[in-house]
Amino acid sequence: MIILLLFCFIALVSPFNINIPKRHITLLHSTTSTDAPFKSASAKQQIGNNAFLNENLMSRAQNGPGRVNKSKLKIGIVGAGLAGMVAAMDLADAGHDVEMFELRPYVGGKVSSWKDKDGNHIEMGLHVFFGCYYNLFGIMKRTGSFDKHLRIKEHIHTFINEGGNVGALDFRFPIGAPVSGLQAFARTEQLGLADKFHNAVRLGTSPIVRALFDFDGGMDMVRELDDITFTEWFTRLGGSRGSLDRMWDPIAYALGFVDCDNISARCMLTIFMLFAIRTEASVLRMLDGSPQTGLHDPIVEYLEERGVKINLQTPCREIVHEVDPSGSPTYVKGIKVGPKEEYREFDAVVCALDVPGIQKVLPENFRKIPMFDNIYKLETVPIATVQVRFDGWVTEMNSEERMMDVSGDQSDGRGGGIDNLLYSADAEFSCFADLAVTSPGEYYKEGEGSLVQAVFDERAFNRSEEQIRDDCISQLGRLFPSSRKLKCTWSSVTKLGQSLYREKPGQDKYRPTQATPVSNFFLAGSYTYQDYLDSMEGATRSGLMVADEIIERADGVGGLKDVAEKKREEILSA
Ligand SMILES: Cc1cc2nc3c(=O)[nH]c(=O)nc-3n(C[C@H](O)[C@H](O)[C@H](O)COP(=O)(O)OP(=O)(O)OC[C@H]3O[C@@H](n4cnc5c(N)ncnc54)[C@H](O)[C@@H]3O)c2cc1C
Repeated sequence: MIILLLFCFIALVSPFNINIPKRHITLLHSTTSTDAPFKSASAKQQIGNNAFLNENLMSRAQNGPGRVNKSKLKIGIVGAGLAGMVAAMDLADAGHDVEMFELRPYVGGKVSSWKDKDGNHIEMGLHVFFGCYYNLFGIMKRTGSFDKHLRIKEHIHTFINEGGNVGALDFRFPIGAPVSGLQAFARTEQLGLADKFHNAVRLGTSPIVRALFDFDGGMDMVRELDDITFTEWFTRLGGSRGSLDRMWDPIAYALGFVDCDNISARCMLTIFMLFAIRTEASVLRMLDGSPQTGLHDPIVEYLEERGVKINLQTPCREIVHEVDPSGSPTYVKGIKVGPKEEYREFDAVVCALDVPGIQKVLPENFRKIPMFDNIYKLETVPIATVQVRFDGWVTEMNSEERMMDVSGDQSDGRGGGIDNLLYSADAEFSCFADLAVTSPGEYYKEGEGSLVQAVFDERAFNRSEEQIRDDCISQLGRLFPSSRKLKCTWSSVTKLGQSLYREKPGQDKYRPTQATPVSNFFLAGSYTYQDYLDSMEGATRSGLMVADEIIERADGVGGLKDVAEKKREEILSA
């Protein structure tokens, strides 16, 4: 309680509660003169400080663009991850003829899942949904999956420490944010008294405090912190190493697969800011089964009903374009796709790719334009997702009998153990969950126990798959000593050498906007400029924004259709 009061006191008298001049978003995202600014009012609503708290974005995502263009564009979308599929939904609803091209044999990109030859569902990575995913929830409502496929978890963030000691940030409290968060930090068992004190001092002097009274001002301060690491920011004014090691590192790994010494202070503080302001922001949801069934199938159905064709295993090999006398790209005529490099002509092309995908597909001369060249300054992080099935319930630590009991029907989350996302400072996987309990749909199997899914980061990436699996099992044994009696019955390791863009300091300014200086060539993807992290919500935002920009530019003299028709006439008369 003393810490809580101290925190509140510091908050109120903080010398950082000073007025700093407000800066406009275009200054915050240091755009170059060649960057194309946002034209659409709807896309503009997605950026800037207000967008974080704007719950109306959910109804925008749910209802679609609310407008049908006069001109029907032929649009090619490269990449069928969330960003590409969301863009396709809006563009189809706005009356356009949309075709998608995807490299992999399934949709979903980084949030994809598929079946192996024995019918086991494999996931690219463990996915949780924060309560402030307004855009993604809107999309899921639109496709009917929000109520049907998302399971809300207890409002606790649980840390499992060596020897089975549990610490938690328990947000359950009769009063909402920020009080629920303050009491969670004050009461957590995850930190000792000294670390709690230092934590309170540091957070009490943070922009989060200002945001409680002046969200815009607080967010402006957070944006200014993109050039330093969270550790630099945290230890500068009282934060202790103990808090970083025991609590903040697992959270940083869970957000960006890098630790506090490497993650940008902006990235971490953006999320804490939302936790401090909105009660629901720290509430976690998980799918009731695989992403393919719970998230993608309803989107694919929506797209197919609107005539969108999705070509799987059909990568884009080349962007066919015109150039000016200096060799800079001016207009994209089409793309070459698939193994035979078939040429396909489009009025507009959207590359909704991941960082390695866009770096590979952009022609060399696009790099003459700084916005495209900056994309090559973005780095990525490797991850390895491990799924391990056991003959009992790994996270059940209260009763050995319950841990061993896999009899009868334990579907629908009735298995033993903890039904939530878990963090750990004592394993090389920072976050993990027992999918047979949290997302039982396709993951619970009668007569079997836990299906633990854990994401290893670059500390383990270069080891062999067998070694990573063995390390996962032995580290689970350290966290849940009772589970050492259980046997692994099945496992799978999926390595992704280039996953999220690395949220290290100074990267934000290199993220490109969705409209580009090449008038009919657009970008989408969670790495493109949107205020959210590299996340499902970020991908969704980018998809909505790119659709808004295209819809805004489609009609009229000099619009995308008009230009495309004139280009075709030029070619015919040449
Ligand atoms: C292990 C892991 C765990 C994660 N956990 C969470 C989480 O808990 N919560 C959360 O919100 N986010 C999480 N994320 C982040 C989230 O998955 C991504 O931010 C989001 O899915 C990105 O979507 P996207 O559409 O922008 O990109 P992607 O999903 O990467 O889609 C890009 C698509 O382009 C395709 N492609 C590439 N090159 C070509 C080409 N030449 N031609 C055609 N297609 C091509 C790719 O195959 C892919 O399908 C996690 C990510 C990982 C890796």
